[in-house]
Amino acid sequence: MLTGLKFLVRKATSLLAPPKAQTYPIIIPRSDHSLSRQDLSPNAVKVLYRLNKAGYDAFLVGGCVRDHLIGIEPKDFDVVTNATPEEVHAIFSNSRLIGRRFKLVHVTFGREIIEVSTFRANSAQDDDDSTPNTSLKGKDSARSAHGIVLRDNVYGNIEEDAERRDFTFNALYYNVQDFSIHDYCGGLKDIENKQIRIIGDARQRYQEDPVRMLRAIRFAGKLGFELEAETAAPIKEMAHLLDHIPPARLFEEVLKLLGSGNGIDTFHLLRQYGLFRYLFPDTDALLQSGWKRNDIDPEAFILQGLQNTDDRIQSGKTTAPYFLYAVLLWPSVALRHEEFQAQGMPATPALHQAANMVLDNQVASTAIPRRFSTPMREIWDMQYRLPKRYGKRAFLLLEHPRFRAGFDFLLIRELSGTNLDGLGDWWEKFQHGTENQQRDLIKSIDSFSKDKEGPKKRRPRRRKKSNSNSNTTSTTTHSETFDE
Ligand code: ATP
Ligand code: MG
Repeated sequence: MLTGLKFLVRKATSLLAPPKAQTYPIIIPRSDHSLSRQDLSPNAVKVLYRLNKAGYDAFLVGGCVRDHLIGIEPKDFDVVTNATPEEVHAIFSNSRLIGRRFKLVHVTFGREIIEVSTFRANSAQDDDDSTPNTSLKGKDSARSAHGIVLRDNVYGNIEEDAERRDFTFNALYYNVQDFSIHDYCGGLKDIENKQIRIIGDARQRYQEDPVRMLRAIRFAGKLGFELEAETAAPIKEMAHLLDHIPPARLFEEVLKLLGSGNGIDTFHLLRQYGLFRYLFPDTDALLQSGWKRNDIDPEAFILQGLQNTDDRIQSGKTTAPYFLYAVLLWPSVALRHEEFQAQGMPATPALHQAANMVLDNQVASTAIPRRFSTPMREIWDMQYRLPKRYGKRAFLLLEHPRFRAGFDFLLIRELSGTNLDGLGDWWEKFQHGTENQQRDLIKSIDSFSKDKEGPKKRRPRRRKKSNSNSNTTSTTTHSETFDE
């Protein structure tokens, strides 16, 4: 897997271990690195050539260069240029301008999007901390009262652009004109040493954009690299700044963090650095409290859910973001469900109330679009419907659009130690059985557990005596269990 890196290091050793102070950029010619044009997205290469042809500089930068050198498949291809977003937009008819905090251009080729940004100067560095919300260099830049950069559209040259990037290994530029790599901040050396090093002063860089703390953890989880000491040092103390990040941005970050294929490592790191509580406050409090029941061990359950997601990603299967969120919030739902029932609420309304409460609390930290919260509720609901299989119910449940997700979720509960009397196995057999086998399976539960889950026999209503002149009102009871 790491052949790319080894090759690069062997060829470029003299560049990577400078005896004296290094001057940047280090330019590594094609012959000395492993990144070949064949590895690149043809569409990204097309964008680079078109920009060059129009007279602009253009480089590949960020994750695509970094990941290739490390020997892993990059997720996407980012281009950076000295053309302004408007100029880029004018060159590509298949493009659109996006972003406000950070203006850029998306060039679309079918399903592939090549993101093109303009060289930026690190505007916040020149800013005066005592005067937030000031406009810089007469251009489009602004900071919040907490020093967070709200808009960053001050353009600069490539050196400035490199300096305002987050980590040294993200400031490597690939030049398609001569196939060289330009290293502005020592990223190659850090890749060789498997280190994540922030560019500039860590505190200042986290203050400008607290999401960089999450990105540091994301790369540590994804790449298995270590955080260099100064990069790691302020994180715990500055983690609270995440409270000032819009929930919609944090929602996206969580998906990237836990959907990288190394969700378990990332989850541990997020907790270790005190960041998890700003993403999932309820879940974190519950994990800290040590709350556990026979039917749920929160930590074991979350780890099992993350393991399932990691396995799916690593074997090239798709994962649904709502499933991940449903896993992370389930322990809190279970806790609230128990509390509402203890207050006398019947099981199903208590579940719905618990789901509402947990989701309401969660959206203050990370937004959850309705298209995700609806299937999350359905998955949770399924956990109480899947045990009820008598009569036609099993056949109906099988047709439910969320059956598969609900069933997978149930398996995770079982794998994490919850004893559901072989329910997962029953459903496994039922899904794959012939009609006769399915009927036998239903019979088997009908005879065993009718008392437990069978339909309640309605008692014939007693007619009110017509001549009753008693003024007693009929008493309503909550003893009838709510039936979905
Ligand atoms: P991946 O795409 O694999 O998740 P990436 O490093 O490419 O990783 P992107 O979010 O695509 O991440 O960003 C592209 C590049 O933009 C980064 O490599 C980095 O140079 C720069 N960048 C992104 N986010 C920030 C940030 N918050 N602060 C500074 N630079 C950033
Ligand atoms: Mg990227």
